[in-house]
Amino acid sequence: MMRPQDLLQPRPEGLYCSPGDFYIDPVRPTPRAVVTHGHSDHARSGHGIVLATPETLAIMTERYGADFAQGRQPVAYGERVDRDGVEISLAPAGHVLGSAQAVLRWRGFTAVVSGDYKRRRDPTCKGFEPVQCDLFVSEATFGLPVFRHPPDTEEIARLLHSVRQFPERAHLVGAYALGKAQRLIRLLREAGWERPIYIHGAMQRLCALYEDLGVELGPLEPATAERGGDLAGEIVICPPSALQEKWSRRFADPVTAFASGWMSVRARARQRGVELPLVMSDHADWDELISTFRELPEALLWITHGREDGLLRWAELEGRKAQALRLSGYEDEED
Ligand SMILES: [Zn+2]
Ligand SMILES: [Zn+2]
Repeated sequence: MMRPQDLLQPRPEGLYCSPGDFYIDPVRPTPRAVVTHGHSDHARSGHGIVLATPETLAIMTERYGADFAQGRQPVAYGERVDRDGVEISLAPAGHVLGSAQAVLRWRGFTAVVSGDYKRRRDPTCKGFEPVQCDLFVSEATFGLPVFRHPPDTEEIARLLHSVRQFPERAHLVGAYALGKAQRLIRLLREAGWERPIYIHGAMQRLCALYEDLGVELGPLEPATAERGGDLAGEIVICPPSALQEKWSRRFADPVTAFASGWMSVRARARQRGVELPLVMSDHADWDELISTFRELPEALLWITHGREDGLLRWAELEGRKAQALRLSGYEDEED
């Protein structure tokens, strides 16, 4: 009888697959890495060979330069490759453009390392595809029943309502530069906002890359210093940190908004001085986590990366086998 730990073990560098001799999302340089998606805590530079989707490799090139690894192995969704007897394939994770679950098959055993994921529709990337497996490694960023994210359309409608209500003020929306910003822009376009959207300099390259990879964002303009004064009634998207920086002082009396799953916690919004909290996450909320586990009834659950205890308790009540996986070095890009 094979044990899951014969295939995968947590190590300080990250989750290690010993029969295939590679790491998944290693946090330190390793000779062979499988990278689930482009967020900087999962996708680091300095590895030997990086196996990832072509989109994730393009994002890593954009962030770190062409020499971010000694070699790269692009693998499209659904394509199967062999590494020392371990079959690796990538399935969409619905998290950001190019994000993938790593599916490992070895001696009749299937393990899925989902990286970060969500289940709701995202117009900037392919939706999560459940893969039946014996072991499912899940994140737990919002792994408590209090975390239930509203529909995106509601949050976008609240933003547009505020823009109509305060036409004399610019709306500054903090959004993570990879994934959240582009999703927000697409959702605004779907809601009928056709005006140029103004973006902070730190977002320009990733927005351009999304467009190169086929995600249309509509007219974007740089939110330059000279423009600051005359962006009344406009929407400006910036990294969350810029909301508190000198950069934001160029706008007269702006409405500050922040798009993050954490905005359901009022104290966090208050702490950051956010006037218009928008609850939008690229991570599964409680219901999405639970429905995913229910769709994979045979899988042993390894829970990591957040609030493991709530999910372990759920698993116990449901009679599901689950354990916490201690992995360190990952941050929460929404925080
Ligand atoms: Zn992520
Ligand atoms: Zn993550």
